[in-house]
Amino acid sequence: MRATVMYSAGDVRIENVPDPKIVEPSDAVIRVTRACVCGSDLWPYQKMERSDTGRLMGHEAIGVVEDVGADVRTIKRGDFVIMPFAFSDGTCAFCHDGLQTSCVHGGFFGTTDVAGAQAEAVRIPLADGTLFPVRANTDDALMASLLTLSDVMGTGHHAAVIARVTPGKSVAVVGDGAVGLCAVIAAKRLGAEQIIILGRHADRIALAKDFGATDVVSERGDAALERIRELTGGSGVQSVLECVGLEQAVNTAISIARPGGAVGRVGVPQEQTIPGSEPAFYNNVTVGGGPAPVRAYIEDLLPDVLEGKIEPGRVFDRTVALDDVPDGYRSMNDREAIKVMVTP
Ligand SMILES: [Zn+2]
Repeated sequence: MRATVMYSAGDVRIENVPDPKIVEPSDAVIRVTRACVCGSDLWPYQKMERSDTGRLMGHEAIGVVEDVGADVRTIKRGDFVIMPFAFSDGTCAFCHDGLQTSCVHGGFFGTTDVAGAQAEAVRIPLADGTLFPVRANTDDALMASLLTLSDVMGTGHHAAVIARVTPGKSVAVVGDGAVGLCAVIAAKRLGAEQIIILGRHADRIALAKDFGATDVVSERGDAALERIRELTGGSGVQSVLECVGLEQAVNTAISIARPGGAVGRVGVPQEQTIPGSEPAFYNNVTVGGGPAPVRAYIEDLLPDVLEGKIEPGRVFDRTVALDDVPDGYRSMNDREAIKVMVTP
């Protein structure tokens, strides 16, 4: 089959690789009907050291089950499924707590150990715990939004949950990438009254407003802080959804939280330490977050997608065939595209 292989920063190729097959009896193999390029794929795209074997990329997909191992019970051939970006057994203490990204037998797709989903097919470890079968009738128009439940929409929702968004609250979303835009949807869905988006790309801001953003702050650093104080009666917001991961973004996120507020971090950190220790301490700001347990959130979010109440699939503004995935990476990296969908 054909798959996306990254060899080093900027070097993404489509190659023929062996077809995935059942290795463990708990495995499944799915034919990928839609995949996509993630903002977090851009970190290796910018930084990866050369590797002779390369890394099979991609951790977001929906597809159809082609084969299941002998021990797979709940997933059947022909099922249409959502593949969360992490695999998990569904049975350990962390899975029971709804934190499947910390599953004791789990791991992540598209790493050096486990092949990725920007491919014609992908092997799914621990299929019963990992895959979410969608047995409702699914119109083609819903596919883009269903795909976001494998990562970005669940990740934006996680930021909102960790930042304790509840009805009536004031919220700021740091970052206008696909996750930031989904975080706006999540904040609105959970009843936030004021949603301030921090971003500076006109097309993304327009989408954020469609999704429910009430205010836009395009300044950075101290100027952003000042603007947000103006917009919030001087004190900052109750909930901050940090969807970037760079030091300055995290710093801003912590500094714009009002005393007693919370920051939900879902941007993959690019530093070893969390900045903003002093303001976080003196303002009693809770800082939390991490890889979103999107598997746990699908149950919550799926009905709203199926009913058309939320349309996170609108974050995709470009669709490419597998052969054009390298250009998809380039266009996202150059900020030409918000998020690129792949139709293998
Ligand atoms: Zn587990």
